Amino acid sequence: MLYDDSHTGSRLRRLARPWGMTDILVLGAGYTGMMAALGIARRSKTARVTLLNPSTRFTERLRQHQVAAGQELGNHQIPQLVEPAGVRFVKGWAAGIDTQRRRVVLSDGRDLPYDTLVYAIGSSTQAVNYAFTIDDPQLAAHLRDHPTGVLTVCGAGLTGIEAATEVAEAYPRMRVRLISRGEPGSMMGPKARAHLMRALDRLDIEVRTGVNVTKVLPDAIELDGSELVGTDGTLWTTGVRVAPLAAQAGITTDDTGRVVVDSTLRSVSHPEIYAIGDAAAIRQSYGVIHGTCQSGIPTAAHTAESIARQLRGKAPQPFRFGYLHQPVSLGRKDAVIQFTYADDTPRRWYLKGMAAIMYKEAVSSSPLTFYRSRMAIPARMTGLTGGRRNRLA
Ligand SMILES: Cc1cc2nc3c(=O)[nH]c(=O)nc-3n(C[C@H](O)[C@H](O)[C@H](O)COP(=O)(O)OP(=O)(O)OC[C@H]3O[C@@H](n4cnc5c(N)ncnc54)[C@H](O)[C@@H]3O)c2cc1C
Repeated sequence: MLYDDSHTGSRLRRLARPWGMTDILVLGAGYTGMMAALGIARRSKTARVTLLNPSTRFTERLRQHQVAAGQELGNHQIPQLVEPAGVRFVKGWAAGIDTQRRRVVLSDGRDLPYDTLVYAIGSSTQAVNYAFTIDDPQLAAHLRDHPTGVLTVCGAGLTGIEAATEVAEAYPRMRVRLISRGEPGSMMGPKARAHLMRALDRLDIEVRTGVNVTKVLPDAIELDGSELVGTDGTLWTTGVRVAPLAAQAGITTDDTGRVVVDSTLRSVSHPEIYAIGDAAAIRQSYGVIHGTCQSGIPTAAHTAESIARQLRGKAPQPFRFGYLHQPVSLGRKDAVIQFTYADDTPRRWYLKGMAAIMYKEAVSSSPLTFYRSRMAIPARMTGLTGGRRNRLA
């Protein structure tokens, strides 16, 4: 098999598996794929670890709302972060998985072999006609070109709140409207929620709740009862989807495209495939984990340990995770952190203001700090197993 393994794009080399090595292929170099690749390389001397991603630049998804508001983020280059640890980086887009031959087929015709596959392709917001999503590279330019226009943000989940506040702060003359079925911060306790509502008020964000958006038009959105609300741009933040790569390969997925895994994070239909992060449907005793970095990083650390165990002839162990917090930025000058029980229901404790800003900044930057220092946190040391609230079946 011939493939181009230089991320600059010119060199072609024949790829042969070194004797005695096991091919571990990690699909996607986001927060979890990076952590898994580094963790496996660190723990297993007999693993040849390959990390596939469409770009050499690391996407800080946790900061997509900052990008939308026109901020420049650091240019973190994945090969520089992983190659010193012995991980081979391949730039490319996975277009198909051949589970019979155990190969991932790339969009340019190359293919990559695997003995074990780590599926870490993340998720995205469902696309809606005439609306931007938070990952749309054209959103920042649109906002820059309409600094006094109206932006309608549909959905008051964490992405909707972070985007609305970030944009309102960056463009004080823009009219930002937050439209949602539910109340902003409904998953938080009363004090954290009250702080959040004060921040929306201070930033002059018009909040409209209890309504359904039935259609997005080029210059308006339509609500229940055919009510039209004019807008210069719409940001759609609800309805998370995972690309159908696994489903198309015959791997068992749920109705959002996430790979259904067993208690050890291996696909229920293809045990040679681990799924982690947003791309995995992981059940705990309190329910299925929703996609966050907070839960994704432990899935990656656990998978690295499991693969290392398997290479030593041992069985992988069950994964356990419990939530710790809901960190929400409210622009650059405010934030609120709701601490939670393992099942993500709110505790009494929360942070606001400067303490919350520093906390949110620390959690948003910490994965990159780990990658730079080539650390892989042992899964058991994260302490986020959920304790008594998350007992194994
Ligand atoms: C605005 C915003 C704020 C957020 N804030 C928080 C927060 O404060 N705390 C928190 O815990 N979580 C937060 N999240 C959620 C968090 O960003 C995700 O849960 C996290 O990024 C999931 O990591 P991942 O590795 O599964 O996916 P990603 O980080 O999305 O990485 C997936 C990678 O796979 C690559 N890929 C996709 N398809 C293919 C393919 N076919 N072939 C090859 N590569 C592919 C992508 O290019 C990407 O590099 C936030 C999300 C958003 C959008």
